[in-house]
Amino acid sequence: DNMLWDWDPEIAEAIAREERRQLSTIELIASENFTSPAVMAAVGSILTNKYAEGYPGKRYYGGCEYVDRAEELAIERAKRLFGAQHVNVQPHSGAQANMAAMLAVLQPGDRIMGLSLQQGGHLTHGMQVNFSGRLFEPHFYTLHPESELLDYDLIRQQVREVRPKLIIAGYSAYSRTIDFARFREIADEVGAILMADIAHIAGIVAAGLHPSPVGAAQIVTTTTHKTLRGPRGGMILCDEEYASAIDKTVFPGTQGGPLMHIIAGKAVAFGEALKPAFRDYIERVLENARVLAETLQAEGFRIVSGGTDNHLMLVDLTPLGISGRKAERALDAVGITVNKNAIPNDPRPPAQASGIRLGTPAMTTRGFGPEEMRLTGRLIARVLRNPDDEGVRERVRGEVSELVGQFPLPGAPRLSVVE
Ligand code: PLP
Repeated sequence: DNMLWDWDPEIAEAIAREERRQLSTIELIASENFTSPAVMAAVGSILTNKYAEGYPGKRYYGGCEYVDRAEELAIERAKRLFGAQHVNVQPHSGAQANMAAMLAVLQPGDRIMGLSLQQGGHLTHGMQVNFSGRLFEPHFYTLHPESELLDYDLIRQQVREVRPKLIIAGYSAYSRTIDFARFREIADEVGAILMADIAHIAGIVAAGLHPSPVGAAQIVTTTTHKTLRGPRGGMILCDEEYASAIDKTVFPGTQGGPLMHIIAGKAVAFGEALKPAFRDYIERVLENARVLAETLQAEGFRIVSGGTDNHLMLVDLTPLGISGRKAERALDAVGITVNKNAIPNDPRPPAQASGIRLGTPAMTTRGFGPEEMRLTGRLIARVLRNPDDEGVRERVRGEVSELVGQFPLPGAPRLSVVE
């Protein structure tokens, strides 16, 4: 049994309950995944004790020879995985990666331009209260109003009007393929730098199943914990030309000591992603997403942009007359975890929203295939058509728990689950 029960029963209980929640629900949050026992072992290791400000071979502390090796392995593997010239594996999160990347190439007050936040841009792409909106002058391009797709002629026109210093391509809720080469052409026309934020699709890019931004974008930022299936964290890839500027804005520009246990976990995850089995995993993620979207469409739901090319989809609930918030709660009550999400040109305020975002990376890791995704889609439809029906909820709750019971979490549970 885990010693944490003796050392700190309150925290042990919180973890055990969370473990049981993860075991007993269908996890469809598009940005989540389940890390391997190997990643967990590195993240839970004594490397958390070590200060290592600086970079391998150039640290501000003694005793760094072994953490240097861990960071070098993370860098080498990331370079191989993405074919990048330079990699910085130290950002504590995706937001930190974006902050360091922007500060490396921009001055306060410079114009930045990303996709409208309401249409899928991330808060670090120019939200007023975020560093990106406070330090820089945020502008936004928009999706085609009918197709809900990136429309490169429209983007080109919007970019030419704003003439930003930096263009951001990469999103939190866009279900289609991104043409990074097209973005680079548009950026070059106005002398802007292209930053690709592949936080969501990094695993798909790593598997070679989404066009890579490396080579097209001068700077690529990502998280490591979504489709890439590593520990929570961030990373920046860039051309050699920007390497020293990026390294300086990560440390000492925006961070102090790197999280060496997390960096070791990143190295383990990159090693896993370099294996052929990871490509098979991503293929299943994509197939599962297609099947879930098709099932929901067959059940009468509208999928934003008509479908998905990646691991996620946005479901428009307008035809059902319920808000995203209500749907999120109704699904939560039966053990299906999703998040409410604005749809393009959403008439509802963000706290309500008219859509939900669904993704398949987590349940694919647990072993769900097309058959389980079809069943999941039908369960979602049943709940959302009868959001207030306690009887329906009760029956669906039973089916959810039977279904997930057949797919254990990867790796042995760390804490015995409480009742
Ligand atoms: N960029 C995009 C496109 C994201 O979707 C996210 C997270 O949702 C981030 C950046 C930020 O990552 P983090 O939550 O690790 O700061």
